[in-house]
Amino acid sequence: MAYDYDPENIFARILRGEIPNKTVLETEHCLAFHDIRAQAPTHVLVIPKGAYVNFDHFGAEASAEEIVDFNRTVARIARELGAAPGEGGAGYRLIANSGENAHQEVPHMHIHILAGRPLGRMLV
Ligand code: 5GP
Repeated sequence: MAYDYDPENIFARILRGEIPNKTVLETEHCLAFHDIRAQAPTHVLVIPKGAYVNFDHFGAEASAEEIVDFNRTVARIARELGAAPGEGGAGYRLIANSGENAHQEVPHMHIHILAGRPLGRMLV
């Protein structure tokens, strides 16, 4: 995979504790924290601790254990925040901007969890 990970990106610095964050949950393989510019009442970012540039890089090179931990953490957070449709929540949206056409700002793999208001039919 031809990805060059920049160890000085903001999320790498958050993982090293150099920049503060409002942590929602930390697991062995990932960290979840509130987005600094929330676009919904709930706007949480989930990032793997491993050095992956984007979703493509993560999907291709992360171990099964990292991927399972990541997916379960995303679902767990949505559930614990009361957004899970299967538990009476009104639902949520997941976004993984990857690469320049998607306007990925921070080059460390992350998923946005958005919830707490109607989100419209699609984000494009
Ligand atoms: P992207 O466009 O890369 O998918 O989104 C990156 C997100 O990271 C943006 O929603 C932005 O608000 C958030 N962000 C950027 N810098 C920081 C920071 O220092 N702390 C936190 N908590 N979020 C950040």
